[in-house]
Amino acid sequence: MAQKPAGLMKMLFRGARRHCPRCGSGKLFESWFKMKERCPGCDLQFEGPAEEGFFLGAFTVNFVVTSGLLLLTMFGYIVASAVGDPPNLVRWVVVAVLGSVLFPIFFYPFARSIWVAFELAMHNMDDSLKGRRGAQGHARGAGR
Ligand SMILES: [Zn+2]
Repeated sequence: MAQKPAGLMKMLFRGARRHCPRCGSGKLFESWFKMKERCPGCDLQFEGPAEEGFFLGAFTVNFVVTSGLLLLTMFGYIVASAVGDPPNLVRWVVVAVLGSVLFPIFFYPFARSIWVAFELAMHNMDDSLKGRRGAQGHARGAGR
């Protein structure tokens, strides 16, 4: 029986819990920063020897989420100053700076597994993830 691919939302949800987006298995990390090469549940390859794309992807997810949180923090500051007494700006800046440094470290493994979900969705699930380097080649600009 062919496994029905999970939808993007489901995969993202799994990734957000540091679970394998394809099969939902946990325990994908050897340590906070070290992801296993393959999923213990479905053998999905997370990273090959030269998959810098995964690092970049996790970085991008991290950057987007961190920026979003910073925007929320700014928004919170604006709301706080509109509603009540002017808040302590220094305190807010310290929180924002600390947050944008510490949060990505905390969030890194989540960004990593979320990115796997994106990769899966972009490459049409399953085994196309493996060996796509070879298949992809330089065939750009063919569409449209
Ligand atoms: Zn899996």
